[in-house]
Amino acid sequence: MAELGVWVNSTCTTDIGLDRAVYIKQSFKRLHIAFVVCIALSLPVLYGQTEIPEWCRALPRADYKSLQRVPVSDPWFEVYRLAPSVFAIYEPHQSEETISYLIVGDNRAMLFDTGMGISDIRKVTAELTRLPIVVLNSHTHDDHVGNNWQFETIYGMDTDFTRENARGSREDAQAEVAPDQICGHLPERFDPKAYATRPWKITSFTHDGDRIDLGGRSLKIIATPGHTPDSISLFDSANGLLFTGDTYYPGTIWLYRPETDLAAYRTSIRRLAALAPRVKMVLGAHNFPVAPPSVLPHLVTAFETVRAHKVPATPTSVGKATYKVDDISFLMHAPESRP
Ligand SMILES: [Zn+2]
Repeated sequence: MAELGVWVNSTCTTDIGLDRAVYIKQSFKRLHIAFVVCIALSLPVLYGQTEIPEWCRALPRADYKSLQRVPVSDPWFEVYRLAPSVFAIYEPHQSEETISYLIVGDNRAMLFDTGMGISDIRKVTAELTRLPIVVLNSHTHDDHVGNNWQFETIYGMDTDFTRENARGSREDAQAEVAPDQICGHLPERFDPKAYATRPWKITSFTHDGDRIDLGGRSLKIIATPGHTPDSISLFDSANGLLFTGDTYYPGTIWLYRPETDLAAYRTSIRRLAALAPRVKMVLGAHNFPVAPPSVLPHLVTAFETVRAHKVPATPTSVGKATYKVDDISFLMHAPESRP
């Protein structure tokens, strides 16, 4: 989008310059036409959108109307109260539709993922709680760690993948702000060209089975590797809340990256399915924040069906395909390019 903006502006500047050079000799009318054309070309840039992407046309998702919206000052985010002291912080203007969660206890709060890093999530959390905040990531893909750098206390899984990502990176972040990835306005002060995942400091390492006490609320870490080596789920067993990160969310689940391990994913989703009788709400990290516990055994069945080659592959981009079973779908390697 920024590159297009530069192109339009430089093109228009040149045209107007030429028209100005011949203005005295030629008619005022030509300058007027050039001006109108430039304004027309610039309008989509001024409004932050060149062409509305297909995914953006489908928003907002109707189901959000059933949730309790909490007003916050930053229009980049939408916040919903899902249970007492549990907030979904949704970023609907970027194609990932990332959802971070603020889970508030009596003494401190946990921010489970920090989103894209495109706007100021710390300011949003400060509008929701005054308690100190501990950050933990569902995994360390760029769209979940973007604002980690803003916080002092950050727990990290004890994996090399986590340590490597904590150094920050630029490539994945840049792909997130391509024009077809944005729906509506980027924040005014955001500079897409400078956009990168900023490094963060892990203040303590966590492991499978660890419990984090927030005061009156205990969260258990369940290692669920597969999507990435450091993927975790977070279980608030007293309240029946299972936060699943990218191991389950309602949109197409990405299982094609080099760091993805399908055998580990299979083990992880079986582990989550075993918890289903104790779960009231499944809270994933993209698209929409609430799913019933029945999705957990359903996820296992869908994945097994795909792995048994009983589902046709629908090719997407080169080397990738989606596989759909009822309302669960996966983005994986296409059959001819499976590793
Ligand atoms: Zn991810």
